[in-house]
Amino acid sequence: LPGRRARQAPVNDEDAMRPAWVDFHCHLDLYPDHEAVIAECDRAAVATLAVTTTPKAWARNRELAARSEHVRVALGLHPQVVADRADEVSLVERLLAETRYVGEVGLDAGPRFYKSFAEQQRVFDRILRACAEQGGKVLTIHSVRAVSKVLDSLERNLPQDRGRAVLHWFTGSAAEARRAAESGCFFSINAEMLRSEKHRSLVAELPIDRLLTETDGPFVTVDGRPVRPPDVASTVEGLASVRGTDAGIMARQVLANLSELLRERA
Ligand code: MN
Repeated sequence: LPGRRARQAPVNDEDAMRPAWVDFHCHLDLYPDHEAVIAECDRAAVATLAVTTTPKAWARNRELAARSEHVRVALGLHPQVVADRADEVSLVERLLAETRYVGEVGLDAGPRFYKSFAEQQRVFDRILRACAEQGGKVLTIHSVRAVSKVLDSLERNLPQDRGRAVLHWFTGSAAEARRAAESGCFFSINAEMLRSEKHRSLVAELPIDRLLTETDGPFVTVDGRPVRPPDVASTVEGLASVRGTDAGIMARQVLANLSELLRERA
């Protein structure tokens, strides 16, 4: 990310070797070959955020990524598992000081998860308050059918100078996108979003300096197989075509956006 460090620098710090690509939301631990995917991220220089769905997965993910140049691990508690794991929010709070990255967290008001919505809201608010207290966290946030509620929670609990939010797989309205941008949010765009004409039009209107790429692997597929982090190269091409620019320019924009997202603030 910004610059290179002297050789004696600890591994896995923020000034790692410069990446070429960005996958800001990938479930590395859900691939059968977790370690091989980490190696691919390093070979292809994909700055990859390995999200987790339960804080119980944190330790193992961190251990496997400890020597990776380009993989960082996020501490998560996915809204879709809150119905069964709400009590794990206290484990998130205990582990939070060990990481700068948080996710997957958020809210899901889709039909399958709506019954746990009140509990999701309590869990999400607690995580946001803990992040605000510690400061400097970067979050990747799920907001299915719940963008307004997510933004309400962010605005209530996480002041913009206490943490940064990335809305992953954003599918809200244009008005919600404007509100999210005003709240300081970034947006991570995946291949599936670019397949939908409606979402392509939405992506076309997002502020260019807030765009990142993601895979949300292994849930998204390309050519009939689960997407892998180096596939973000084609997402950058798709993004470039939606934005009417060149793929090389788009790749540099996404890297600059990542640097800005991760820039330490005074
Ligand atoms: Mn995900």
